[in-house]
Amino acid sequence: MEIQHHKLKDIPFHESPNHGGTITPDTIIMHYTAGASAESSINTLTDPDNDVSAHVVISARGDITQLVPFNTKANHAGPSHHENRTGMNQYSIGIEMDNPGILKKSGEKYVSWFGRKYPEEEVIEEVHRNEDFTRFWHIYPEEQINAAFNLCKLLIKTYDIKYLLGHEEVSPDRKKDPGPAFPLDKFRNKLLSEDRSSDEPDKLPDVGEVAVPKLNFRDAPGTEGQKITQPLEKGTSLKIIRKEGDWYQVEAPVKGWVMGKYLKTDDS
Ligand SMILES: [Zn+2]
Repeated sequence: MEIQHHKLKDIPFHESPNHGGTITPDTIIMHYTAGASAESSINTLTDPDNDVSAHVVISARGDITQLVPFNTKANHAGPSHHENRTGMNQYSIGIEMDNPGILKKSGEKYVSWFGRKYPEEEVIEEVHRNEDFTRFWHIYPEEQINAAFNLCKLLIKTYDIKYLLGHEEVSPDRKKDPGPAFPLDKFRNKLLSEDRSSDEPDKLPDVGEVAVPKLNFRDAPGTEGQKITQPLEKGTSLKIIRKEGDWYQVEAPVKGWVMGKYLKTDDS
């Protein structure tokens, strides 16, 4: 992907008439469309009778359509604020992710506000960052997340982007998008933190030392695993083979599993 004259090269551009003047964006705001499809959301966001738009819509398959050049004000955030600024459309690029939004449980199915039913494997139950109870949310497919990630990376490289925010953060009283199914904090950390080390997969330490008086040594990761020897003594050095959740498979010298938090490693 490449940006030329504030447009994505070789990506469909479907111009929205719902835009303002020139801006110098320093913020990206993530949204969900709460719509039935990317196509229907593009229709809404380019309809002159609705005064709404966004710079980009990303379909569930990860296809990108641009609606407004990145240096032009789009109408995606509405009344909004961040730190000491209000009216975030003036400062931001708006990315809309095709997603039905909040789902309601009905029997074995989960239903969107527009009446479509979704199977359980496409749904997560999570607490929204602005709330204290769980709701049901539609997952974002990996292709869609990857397309958003690559686009944000390109925007950060091209513009002086300092903030990556959710609509739910700049309009917390009104908005729930992109919601807890979207990995917003991970995006921010990976894309904007000074130390980009989180771009790399977790590095496994080579060796660990038993840090508690007695450490159970099991044949499987989990407390349901059978103990295969006497507990390991404090100070025993172990070769670490792999990690599964909170558990490490180690060689002592037979292979077995121990709870990772009871090992002292170079990283801890
Ligand atoms: Zn929004």
